[in-house]
Amino acid sequence: MNKVRTRYAPSPTGKMHVGNLRSALYEFLIAKHAGGDFMLRIEDTDQERFVEGATEIIYRTLEQAGLQHDEGPDKDGGFGPYVQSERMKSGIYMDYAKKLVERGEAYYCFCDKERLESLKTEIVEGKEIMMYDKHCLSLTKEEVEENLAAGKPFVIRQNIPMEGSTTFHDELYGDIRVENAELDDMILIKSDGYPTYNFANVVDDHTMNITHVVRGNEYLSSAPKYQRLYDAFGWESPVYIHLPLITDENHKKLSKRSGHASFEELIEQGFLTEAVVNYIALLGWSPEENREIFTLDELIEKFDYHRISKSPAVFDIVKLKWMNGEYLKAMDFAEFYEMAEPYIKKCLTKDFDLKKIAAMVKTRIEIFPDIAEHIDFLEEVPEYDCTMYAHKKMKTTPESSLEVLKELIPVLEAQEDYSNDALYETLCNYVSDKGCKNGYVMWPVRTAVSGKQMTPGGATELMELLGKEESLARLRAAVAKLEASIEA
Ligand code: GLU
Repeated sequence: MNKVRTRYAPSPTGKMHVGNLRSALYEFLIAKHAGGDFMLRIEDTDQERFVEGATEIIYRTLEQAGLQHDEGPDKDGGFGPYVQSERMKSGIYMDYAKKLVERGEAYYCFCDKERLESLKTEIVEGKEIMMYDKHCLSLTKEEVEENLAAGKPFVIRQNIPMEGSTTFHDELYGDIRVENAELDDMILIKSDGYPTYNFANVVDDHTMNITHVVRGNEYLSSAPKYQRLYDAFGWESPVYIHLPLITDENHKKLSKRSGHASFEELIEQGFLTEAVVNYIALLGWSPEENREIFTLDELIEKFDYHRISKSPAVFDIVKLKWMNGEYLKAMDFAEFYEMAEPYIKKCLTKDFDLKKIAAMVKTRIEIFPDIAEHIDFLEEVPEYDCTMYAHKKMKTTPESSLEVLKELIPVLEAQEDYSNDALYETLCNYVSDKGCKNGYVMWPVRTAVSGKQMTPGGATELMELLGKEESLARLRAAVAKLEASIEA
């Protein structure tokens, strides 16, 4: 058995999309699961689509996601160069293309733009497709040489027979057979001398000993042409795994418009890298056991590519948020605090014990930006209605609340220790003196100091955070508010 070697082969054309990261992750997992090598290859032969800075995004994302490559432009493993524009300099693609010409599997084409534009086009899957009519296949060897000597611009095309069919195998889709007449004589070498992606990926995957190729299923329709190239060279093709489409909640292809289509956007929105990686692993793959939270190491151990599904995977942001929340709950507090602090600070101008706030919100938020809505009341009590004091289960009413608050204020004025424990004891003593239920007292106090139905902590925890002066000011304001509302 050959050593498993996979590659992530991005074209540096912009942000790293969820689909790209999934391909990279699966390639990484297949290699690591089998103790093999994961390689990074930059496919930059389409100079028109090249975007400045895109290569840096690729490096940064792989590193952040923990998908460390064993070989790549920055890590020579003996199969370099790992950037196609650099590989090209050795003439590798042209040499292989010429071999195909010699074997009759490819041919020079000198057709100019006007002629190509005059050819019939067909609409396939909403795209205009031109089928080349093999015009230049009939040129004699001498004619070709004359044209070349005259410096006429040319491309090299794959020669696909008009008859017969081509079959290739995909691990998920099985054997796929396509009529050759449906396959276009695709360009292998462009007029600028660069290979097309279609040709370079075959030459590189073979010469770099790649054993498994994982890519989006938009490449499925080109796969028979790649298979013909492997066959023409007499090479064994790698294992192909074409991944299902990723859609948004409306079952449309996940696009920039959805606002969370790229890794960077997700991180900017406050998601944790580990959660994103974990979630993306499950976009089309499921483990044997009924479980969803996996570290990268656990994914390596469990990842069996035979369990990748063919049906489209829905990118469900609600599910990702839930998963992120699970990661936050499980996170070590010091680490959580370090990450949460800027989000907490952003909401506050007054002095608060930030660590206490962090501890309160840790199990309540799903992503860091959720912090804002949990702690907005700390700066100022929001507008609220006195009907909030009426709570069926706690058996409270605005009237009962007014009475409790009025009785408690002098007790709390006399109290010096505003720690949660001391305050809790005080309130509990009051509860037992009164012979009522806990909630009968806690509910109005918590409402008075927060103005909110839901808070990240109980009444006394909030008072500890606010401090004596502010707590009392809020209790007094609540009394005034209740009195005014009951009178009215
Ligand atoms: N350069 C291609 C892309 O970025 C790679 C496809 C493949 O993995 O073969 O889409």
